[in-house]
Amino acid sequence: MSGITNGALTLDAPRAPRASGRLRDLPAPGAKRILLASPRGYCAGVDRAVIAVEKAIEHFGAPVYVRKQIVHNVHVVSELEQRGAVFVDEVDEVPEGAHLVFSAHGVSPAVKRAAADRRLEAIDATCPLVTKVHREATRFAKQEATILLIGHAGHEEVEGTMGHAPERTILVNGPDDVDAIVVPEEGELVWISQTTLSVDETMDTVRRLRERFPRLQDPPSDDICYATQNRQVAIKKVAPEADLVIVVGSANSSNSVRLVEVALEHGARAAYRVDYAEEIRQEWLDGVASIGVSSGASVPEVLVQEVLADLADAGYGEVREVRTAEEDLMFSLPKELRRTAEGAAEVRALGGRIRS
Ligand code: SF4
Repeated sequence: MSGITNGALTLDAPRAPRASGRLRDLPAPGAKRILLASPRGYCAGVDRAVIAVEKAIEHFGAPVYVRKQIVHNVHVVSELEQRGAVFVDEVDEVPEGAHLVFSAHGVSPAVKRAAADRRLEAIDATCPLVTKVHREATRFAKQEATILLIGHAGHEEVEGTMGHAPERTILVNGPDDVDAIVVPEEGELVWISQTTLSVDETMDTVRRLRERFPRLQDPPSDDICYATQNRQVAIKKVAPEADLVIVVGSANSSNSVRLVEVALEHGARAAYRVDYAEEIRQEWLDGVASIGVSSGASVPEVLVQEVLADLADAGYGEVREVRTAEEDLMFSLPKELRRTAEGAAEVRALGGRIRS
């Protein structure tokens, strides 16, 4: 059985046969090296959500249902499926009375009501930093403010946040949306955002919004989470020195996709996202001396290590870590699991490092 160690899924068996040495002997001038961005990979919210599913399966037995992907990573989802998690799109696919985990991206109150109507035993693994945005939206709606939510249409987190104040929220996808927005002439106007956006693009959107609506108010604190910000700062440091940046992460992982964009904006000559090491193409390495490597907040470290192993085979054996921040934040388990004996022991073991 695989397990969680320091925020990374550890595997007893190789995930899939890998074509060893296929990147070997590529000609590249200059000293070949890896610039390994840090922080990278698992954040506190993802770690908590994955552990929540594991603990739920251990305590309640399989199957445990999960609404949407618990985190946006194909490898993590596949590992949890093998252990007994069943991923569904909507609540009505879950048998009445079963255990259902809400993903780290959060859900709207309507989804929670639908689960209660179906008598499901819900376990809420919404990241506490997403819950904070939900609370802001609810509070601003009670104050009858108009909320400009900066985020990506169709993303689960955005759907969950909009669902907390559907009548009062207007979605702003980015700076190019600003000119077309129509807001009420009276009343307060406030912006909030998805947690996993590009910091620079979001600030650009806010600048454009403020030019159009000078009465726009800021939220009490940043909504883009610490993990997203830290990973972007690290890749900004790496990118100017990198001929190529490889970001490990899934296509539906917003923060992983943003890392590729940020790398390109900050000087990387090329940048690609891969789910697995075997997706790296030989032609990406032609003439490349320096490769920046990072990973999104939902990516277990084992996948990065596989990338480094393949790149070492290709001659990039020298690895220099570029660290821009230390992270030690951990969140306590969802309250539904803290009531179990294992959950209580887990919380005690985590001691003073956790935040609820
Ligand atoms: S990326 Fe940020 S908001 Fe999302 S789960 Fe991680 S810590 Fe929470």
